[in-house]
Amino acid sequence: VTENPTQPEVNIGLVGHVDHGKTTLVQALSGSWTDKHSEEMKRGISIRLGYADATLRRCPEEEAPDCYTVEEHCDEHDVDTEVVRDVSFVDAPGHETLMATMLSGAAIMDGAVLVVSATEDVPQAQTEEHLMALDIIGIDNVVIAQNKVDLVDKDRAMENYRQIQEFVEGTVAEDAPVIPISAQQEVNIDLLIDALETEIPTPERDPTDDSRMFVARSFDINKPGTTADDLLGGVVGGSLVQGTLSEDDEIELRPGREVEEGGQSEWQPMTTDVRSIQAGGSPITEATPGGLLGVGTGLDPSYTKGDALAGQVAGEPGTLPPTLEGFEMDVELLDRVVGENDEVEEISTGEPLMLTVGTATTVGAVTSARSGECEVSLKRPVCADPGAKIAINRRVGARWRLIGIGTLKE
Ligand code: GDP
Ligand code: MG
Repeated sequence: VTENPTQPEVNIGLVGHVDHGKTTLVQALSGSWTDKHSEEMKRGISIRLGYADATLRRCPEEEAPDCYTVEEHCDEHDVDTEVVRDVSFVDAPGHETLMATMLSGAAIMDGAVLVVSATEDVPQAQTEEHLMALDIIGIDNVVIAQNKVDLVDKDRAMENYRQIQEFVEGTVAEDAPVIPISAQQEVNIDLLIDALETEIPTPERDPTDDSRMFVARSFDINKPGTTADDLLGGVVGGSLVQGTLSEDDEIELRPGREVEEGGQSEWQPMTTDVRSIQAGGSPITEATPGGLLGVGTGLDPSYTKGDALAGQVAGEPGTLPPTLEGFEMDVELLDRVVGENDEVEEISTGEPLMLTVGTATTVGAVTSARSGECEVSLKRPVCADPGAKIAINRRVGARWRLIGIGTLKE
């Protein structure tokens, strides 16, 4: 076990409309394929965030931006390239019903690449939806990849560029560079990496902060039929957003587990220890923020199987935000429903809302509503601090649609 051999230091989201080339771009940058969802789809389980770690490199014999590459060797100058940064790409699914997954991924993104195909008019539905999500969550380190330029002529590319400029006006992506690329033909990948280096710097972290991990997934890694003596503890996957996490650390998970006692049910935090940590496929002894971690714990694996702990928060016992069965929030509604042309009506008492807080998604019933604020009671509690941002979705027809953003009150 080496100390952090390849742990990525920054998480970059890939967002944009379906088929605009997000997965192809992740592949061009990392050499791996994130569409590993087929089995989950077969089982009808919701599609989860794909991710891929990549090492961005530079040729020592070239200046920026031409120097940037993902190859280990520069054939032109016949020298080995140098590591610039290890980066984790979070490939948000583009399907329109997956807004919540996109938003939970956004909670762990330090910046984002908005992929826009030059072959279609701007904006397409999820281009708009995803940019609005970045806006809401306040991810303002954005690079726009104008993809598929190999398929269009110069005039069409210019027209598309103008549409992009107009579309991002007044959003977090207003000043974002627009880099024309072909993810499939690997054209201008050097320019894109140059933009990632300038626009999405690694955030400054304070290693003495309390450790805080957002859990995005959880598993039981034991093969069926494993005997009790050989059972490995439950595994949680997610991203450390602050502090450090080391082997043998004691950790608490909140909200934890619903426990029935005398006909009453209550959520109780769970405490366990860190038995192993994986980052980028390698075991490490100490993790810092960046990338997705797999953390082996001493938990009974039946508690972690099937993403049962997704949406929970982990960290040093006694340092986590409180568990909330309901809360009050300030509400800022969008002008209109994303993906529809309807105006957003005020939130009313009694209506159900789907709320995303960090990596947690939960349904809440509105117990009281006034203009600009409301109070909700949650089906499943969340763990969050005052000031946390909440994506608010309302059922419109058969779907949940983003209608606004909440801020958790004191
Ligand atoms: P996603 O839904 O945004 O992840 O899109 P994919 O990466 O799956 O790409 C959708 C389709 O567009 C695939 O068939 C890709 O091969 C193709 N594609 C992606 N990028 C490019 C590109 O730069 N040029 C061309 N010609 N095709 C591309
Ligand atoms: Mg894809």
